[in-house]
Amino acid sequence: MQLNHPDIQEVLVTADQIQERVAELATEISEFYKDKEVLLLGILKGAVPFMADISRALSIPVLQDWMAVSSYGSGTVSSGVVRILKDLDADIKDRHVLIVEDIIDSGLTLSWLTSNLKARGAASVEIVTLLRKPEAAKVRIAVRWVGFDIPNAFVVGYGLDYNEHYRSLDGVGILSPSVYE
Ligand code: 5GP
Repeated sequence: MQLNHPDIQEVLVTADQIQERVAELATEISEFYKDKEVLLLGILKGAVPFMADISRALSIPVLQDWMAVSSYGSGTVSSGVVRILKDLDADIKDRHVLIVEDIIDSGLTLSWLTSNLKARGAASVEIVTLLRKPEAAKVRIAVRWVGFDIPNAFVVGYGLDYNEHYRSLDGVGILSPSVYE
């Protein structure tokens, strides 16, 4: 569905801009892992469109797995509490893992997840995120690839939801606060 929706206050990233950036990121990622077998670890549910697009844009073969973690509940402010709702299907010991994430806000979720995956014996853990908010800079996590740095607002679209709505919008925009206030 197109982003020109009445609940969207401001368009931040259009569908075309996402596809252009995905192609650039895929070139860099393919080069980085050219001699290694990489496992793409998508974070449900928000990263589904990004995973689908970036994995198909890569020029290297990859494995895919998924995890679901929760840090938000149904609100719009990060709680810092991370729960595993769905774990990986396979062992990642000695594997090169690339976490595919939709957005980094406080960074708490990925900081926790990176340590968790390293503790399971992954050979390496890297992160590609489509979006990053300024707050993420306060946490010490090394994010190797970022699609777009965006302002500190609650956004939806391209996988990102508010109470399960708006995931199917083809770009990313700021949700009008009147929807959740
Ligand atoms: P963090 O732990 O970095 O604060 O939060 C990461 C998670 O919070 C993301 O995976 C995403 O699920 C959710 N999140 C953070 N900011 C936003 C936002 O602006 N919109 C939506 N829909 N989810 C967000």
